[in-house]
This record gives sequence, C-alpha cells and structure tokens, in this order.
Amino acid sequence: MILPQRRRSFSNFLARRAGLWASLAGLTFLLLSSVPFGSTTPLFPRIVLFWAGHLPFLLIFIAFAWHGPVWGAGVTAWAVGLMGLIGLGSGEGTLFWLPVLFLLFGGLVYWGLGLWEQTLGGEVVRAGRVEEQVNTGAEEIHRLAVLESAMEERLRRYQQLRQIANAFNLSLTLEDLLDSIARAAGSLVRGADHVLLYLAEPKSLHLELRKVWRRAGSATIKEKRGDAFDQWVMRQGQPLLVEEVGRDFRFPESAAGKSGRTFSSLLEVPLITEHRFLGVLRLESAVPHGMGGDDLRLVRILGDLASLGLENSHLYTRMAQLAVTDDLTGLAVREHFQKKMSEELARAAKAKTDLSVLLIDIDRFKVYNDTFGHSAGDKLLRQIGALLLQVRRPGDFAGRFGGEEFSCLYPGTSKEEAARRAEQIRVRVESTPVELRREVARITVSIGVASFPGDGGNVEQLFQTADRRLYHAKHNGRNQVCAEG
Ligand code: GH3
Ligand code: MG
Ligand code: MG
Repeated sequence: MILPQRRRSFSNFLARRAGLWASLAGLTFLLLSSVPFGSTTPLFPRIVLFWAGHLPFLLIFIAFAWHGPVWGAGVTAWAVGLMGLIGLGSGEGTLFWLPVLFLLFGGLVYWGLGLWEQTLGGEVVRAGRVEEQVNTGAEEIHRLAVLESAMEERLRRYQQLRQIANAFNLSLTLEDLLDSIARAAGSLVRGADHVLLYLAEPKSLHLELRKVWRRAGSATIKEKRGDAFDQWVMRQGQPLLVEEVGRDFRFPESAAGKSGRTFSSLLEVPLITEHRFLGVLRLESAVPHGMGGDDLRLVRILGDLASLGLENSHLYTRMAQLAVTDDLTGLAVREHFQKKMSEELARAAKAKTDLSVLLIDIDRFKVYNDTFGHSAGDKLLRQIGALLLQVRRPGDFAGRFGGEEFSCLYPGTSKEEAARRAEQIRVRVESTPVELRREVARITVSIGVASFPGDGGNVEQLFQTADRRLYHAKHNGRNQVCAEG
C-alpha cells in the first residue's frame, strides 16, 4: 500500500483560511462603502453589478490564498491594468479609484496571510512536522510489514527445504527418494501444476520419466521421454526458465506442442553430481509467468539436494550390493549364500519340497595359477562364475565360497536331478578349453552334491555332506560328481 502524498501542507491551509477572513472583511467594507444607500436601482441587479465589479477582488484573493504571493501579485497587477485601461477608455472618474482599491486589497490579503502565518507559524510548523512524522512512520511500518511477510515466506521455504533435505537423507531406496523429490518440488513452488522427474540412462543418456507429481485436477502425462527443453538442460547442464512458452527465442514455437499437453511456462534444473549427469527436474505451469526467478533459485537448491540424495541412494545400493556380492565373479559371497540357503531350507521344510546344494572346486587350480599367473587364474574364476550364472534356472542361487570354490543352490530339486545338473556343469567346464599364450589348458572341476531332506535338515549338515562328497570326488581322481557316501 502506498499512502497518498498531500499536495498542500496543513500550515498553508490554516494560513489561507486567515487570508479568507481578512479578505471577507475587506469585501464587506467595500460592499458597504461602494453601494450608495437610497439608490433607486432594484436590489438584484445591484447585487449582480456589485459581484461583477468585485470579481477581480475575488480572483486576487484566490490567487494569494491558493497559489502564493507571486500569483497574487500577478493577478493584482492584471486587475490594476485592466481597470486602468477601462478607466482611461471610458473617461469615467470613479473607475480611477478602482485600481487603487485593487492594489490596497492585494496588499491587505498579502499582509493578512503573512500576519496569520507569523502568529500561528510555530504551531503550524510543529503540526506539519508531526503529520509528516506520522506519514513517514506509517510508510515505514508498511515497508517493514512487507519486508516481514517476505522474510516469513523465505523462512517458510527454507524450513521446508531443511525438512526436504532430511527426508532425502532418510529415503534410501530410489523409488522413495524420487517420490520425495517430486512432491517436495510441487509443494515448494505454488505456481507449478506438474513436476516431472527424468533420470538419464547411464550409457545412452536417454531421459526416462520416472516420477510425476501433479496438482489436483491437472492432466495426466503420457509421454515418457524428454522433449526439446529437457534436451537443452541436459546439453547445457544449466537451469532453464521459460516464462512464456512459444515466445522464447531459444526454442521453436512447435517445441511445446510436441508434448501433447499444454503448459505455458516451465522451469527445469539439471541433476548433476561431481561425476555425472543424473537427470532433469522439470516443473510446468498452465499459465504464462506461472513461475519466476525466486522459484528458479529455490528449485536450484532443491536440485542440488536431490542430486546429493540420488548419489547417496546410488552409493547405498552399490554398497548393499557389494556387501553381498563377490567383486570378482558377481556371485553371492559365502555369508549371503548361507543366509539365502537357510531361508530356502525353511521354505522347503514348510512346503515339504526338496532342495539341493552343489559344492564345486576347480581341480589343480594352484598349478594353473603357478603356470599362467594370478591374473589368468582370476580370469578363469570369472569364467566359471559366468557359467554358473548361465546355467541358473529361476529360483536358483549361485555363490563363490572363497578361493576357487563355488556353490549352487537348487530349491525344489531332488538329489538325482541336482547330480544330473552337476554333471552337465562338469562336462561344460571340461569341454571348454582355455587358451592362454598359445597353450591350451584343460580345466576340470570336482563337485559334491547334498540334498534336503535326505542328507540333513540344516545348512551346516548339508554343507558338511557336500564337502565330504567333494573330498571323495577329489580322492577318486577329480573331474567327477559325487552325490553318495
Ligand atoms: P585341488 O585339485 O586339490 O583342489 O587342487 P588346488 O590346487 O585347486 O587346491 P588348493 O586349495 O591347494 O589351491 C587353491 C589355490 O587357489 C590356491 C590359490 O593360489 C588359488 N586361489 C585362491 N583364491 C584365488 C583368487 O582369488 N585368485 C587366484 N588367481 N587364485 C586364487
Ligand atoms: Mg582346487
Ligand atoms: Mg580348494
């Protein structure tokens, strides 16, 4: 709100009222002195004549009272001149006195105003100052109120941002996190009708729509790939604010139409970490100028928080994977395999189904290692790991037990079936020659098989049995499967 500024001060107003009284007194005097009593002229024309004759007095007064001494003196001079001319032209003797009267009247008004201002000057000036102070104070209060509400809004947004940052830290699964980001953007930017969250496929960098938030009543979004605006943000790695789609010289007018939905303004930020481009956070509004620079600043912060959250979630997933996965082969580590096996055993016991486990050990691996080197040994371990993953059926589980020992878990599989599958693995390994430095190495494996419920009811018993049979296989000449004994 802006307070209206007064054009005339209080002091002037009072001073001019004094002038009014002074001049009215002068007019009364003139009225009484200039209208001869006992005249035969009727009263009405006499009054009209009087006011017509005294109009210059009125103008002189108004000029002094409302426009100051310069105008007052000017109008007085005009009246004196006018009457002087008329007097000269008509040769009328009485008109000779009129200019004198005008001059006297002007002087009287000027003097009256000065006297009034002198008398009340101090009071008036003080009153004026108080009024000015009141005005200034009101303006200041208003300015502060505006500032306060802006600060409150900013504080509210930053508090929201803090909560959002906490929420991002708490949501470690990707789906939860994407949901939090999209909802946070929607609640922070009131002008936004849609929030779209695209993630880039790591290799192709194709943008894929992963999350949509929409304000109640907004249209659903069908297309799943990014458009020209998203591509721009991805290429430039910069935020983008288009306040009026179709009028932005950076994009062809048709850019917005291709999406199949209508939006008039949009705001986008790239999601980037130190190392890589993760995706794009995009907000759309149905109206032009629906979002502005303030929103852009806020969404940039949100984008940074979201990128950190995504990176954390990625690292968390990776760490969780590493904790259960063997780095070299990608198979489950021993502990994870055993955990999985104990879960599957409980299920098999409940469902009264079979479950088999294989322990696989590479024959004379030490010799291979010594002949071809440790890295060739690692390569072979990876090949065997890949083979076990290849022959896996749905529900099966493969692990690296440490060193050059592997294990396979076959839920719902009898010992006979497991032994048959073990034999297939043995044959596959035996018949796959490994060529190294123009030498062909024949690799073989020995396999021990144990099954639930015949060979034991828990993980330890089954492993002991499988390990004993693996030892038998080795003892009996290696390159064989042992499921008995
Ligand atoms: P056997 O037929 O009786 O199983 O003979 P082997 O030589 O395979 O048996 P042993 O257990 O004596 O040797 C295992 C070797 O596996 C010893 C070690 O050098 C090698 N090894 C264990 N872990 C790794 C690994 O991660 N990488 C490589 N390259 N070699 C490994
Ligand atoms: Mg071995
Ligand atoms: Mg061994």
